[in-house]
This record gives sequence, C-alpha cells and structure tokens, in this order.
Amino acid sequence: MELKDQNMDKFIFAGKSLNEIEKFMIDNNQSKFRAKQVFNWIYLKSVMTFEEMTDLPLTTRNFLQENAQIVSIRMKDKQISKDGTIKYLFEMEDSCFVESVLMRFDNRANLTACISTQVGCPMGCSFCATAKLGYKRNLSASEIIQQIILIQADTGLKVTNIVYMGQGEPLLNLDNVLESIKIFRENFQIGARRITVSTCGIIPAINRLADMNFQSTLAVSLHASDNETRKSIMPVSNKYPFDSLMETLKKYTEKTNRRVTIEYVLIKDINDSIEHAKKLAFAISRLKSNVNLIIYNPNEKSPYKKPIKENILKFKYILESSGKKVTIRLERGADIDAACGQLSSKTKKI
Ligand code: SAH
Repeated sequence: MELKDQNMDKFIFAGKSLNEIEKFMIDNNQSKFRAKQVFNWIYLKSVMTFEEMTDLPLTTRNFLQENAQIVSIRMKDKQISKDGTIKYLFEMEDSCFVESVLMRFDNRANLTACISTQVGCPMGCSFCATAKLGYKRNLSASEIIQQIILIQADTGLKVTNIVYMGQGEPLLNLDNVLESIKIFRENFQIGARRITVSTCGIIPAINRLADMNFQSTLAVSLHASDNETRKSIMPVSNKYPFDSLMETLKKYTEKTNRRVTIEYVLIKDINDSIEHAKKLAFAISRLKSNVNLIIYNPNEKSPYKKPIKENILKFKYILESSGKKVTIRLERGADIDAACGQLSSKTKKI
C-alpha cells in the first residue's frame, strides 16, 4: 500500500482489515506490531484521534498524524428525539449527505443502528421521503462502516445490532454491503445474526445471497399482497413482479435455511383491508417468514395516511391466525423525522 493514494489523500483507516493496516505500517517502516493496537483503538475503543492512542510511541503517533486519517466523513448534524432516538447527518468528502439513526429500547440492552448504503435512492417508492431525493451514488464499504465508527465515538457506546434500513437500496450496492458486513463481523465483532439487510426485492441480488448462503437476516419490503397494488406504490414491481419475488424468496429460504422478515407498511385505504391481510397470509403461507408490520409514517412529500387502529389490529390478527409470528414495529424518532421512510436529509441538499 502506497503511503498516500492517487489523489494524495491520507491513508484512511476506517474499513481496513488488520492485514491491510499491517501492510501499511510495514510499507512505511513502522512496526507491524503496532497495527493491532491501532486496529483495536479504532474498532473496539472508538477513539477518533491518534493522540488518544496512548500505548503507541510518540514517533508512531506523529507519523500517523501526518500520513493517515481515521475517518473521511464528518458528522454535520445530530438531532435527539424525545424517545431517545438519535438521527445523524453525515457529510462525505464530495459534500454528499446521508443520515443514520441510533435506537435504544428501554427494556433491552441492544443498541441498534440503522445505516445508509446510497446517497438518495433510485427505487421511487411512492410513500418514502428518501425516494423523493433521487439517486446520487453508492456509498463505499468504508463510508458504510464509518457511520458506525462515528456513532460509537459520539455516544461512547458499542452498537450491538445493525439494520441496513437507512437511505438507499442495499442490494443495488451489494459488493460494498457484503464487504461492510465482513468488516462488522471481523473488526467490530458483531455477529451475523445481529445484522439485517432490507431490500425492496432485487431478485438477482437475492439469488446471489442465496448462493453464498447468507447468514444475516434478509428483510423484504413487500408492502402489498398482489402485483397490482405493489406496482401502484413500488415501481420495482414492474421489473421484478410479485410472484417472481415470492418464488425467489422461497428458494432463498430453502437454500439458506433462514427465515426472511416480511416488512409491510400499512397505508390507509391502500393496502390495509381485511382482504389484503387474507391475501398476504395466503401468499406467504408456504414461505418461512416472520412478519413485521410498519405503520405508515407521514412525510410531507407523500399523500398517504396512517391506517386506523382497528384495521391494524385486524390485519395483525388475521396473519397470526394463519400461523405467522407478527410484530408491529415501534415507531422511533418521528418527531425528528427519523422514522422509517422519513430520512430525507432535509436540512441539506444531497
Ligand atoms: N431500500 C430498502 C431499505 C430501506 S428500509 C428497502 O426498501 O427495504 C426502509 C423501510 O421503511 C422500508 O421497508 C421502506 O419501505 C419503509 N418505508 C418507507 N417509507 C415509509 C413510510 N413513509 N412509513 C413507514 N415505512 C416506510
């Protein structure tokens, strides 16, 4: 590894494996043994300056100070909800923005971070604020993991669970998503089962995950029980129709022997009737799956409304009666626009 890369930027540690850090140290006449120390400071102790790496000799710290950086993205803004949820706005080197959300649940020790994989999103779901931003670019694996490094450094706490449910479609950036998962597992010691990747249903990418025997949880934003309804709110269904998606998911569960999570945003008068619930129960009856119902979160750019409580409970009841485990996703951070479908980086342009 060259001291500095082509554009003369400093060596960025975030996202590098121990081997890569060792190589960087050796190539620059530094002790290989120091690599592990730097690695631990960054990934396990969330330290953000070389000065704080107190077990390194001053010469090494000075060398790093001059020639390397820990991260390349910056926290630009932070909002705290009354329920404790924190929404972060991060700025990348090219002045693009993404948001991440940190959720703490009172009765659990878990700290769950919801991270972004793209700047904006190309999928165009009609109910989602992120879609309205349009699409700018994929995040690199390093930019994906830097969201967690910065969140941990900010809170001083260790993130225990990661959901790829922020801005963007993770399965359209699959190489970088998989690379970041590898880093979370190896460097941050976060287990595969504590990681969930959510997709709107990119069939070839789901097949690829099946082939590699993906061990994290796959969540699928289904949001409809037939192709017509789905097409009316999710343009992806024109390319990857409902029935093909169900077939693909079935093969996925058989191959990986893992349950998928079916996400279903309940939107008033669009997909929240008893009929829809029955059709959904039928469509997923032979699919190894749990259901996660999400109450539609209003955002200023979409015309939809929340379902009435009675419909939510009936919907849940019908699915449960069909034998499914059903949870209703707790709404987090709606007062700061941090809830599902509200991430629009609205204070800044992307
Ligand atoms: N592109 C991926 C990852 C985004 S996850 C995917 O589609 O799964 C974000 C989740 O929030 C998705 O299930 C998405 O459909 C859902 N969502 C989007 N807008 C929403 C809204 N207004 N209210 C509730 N959920 C919403």
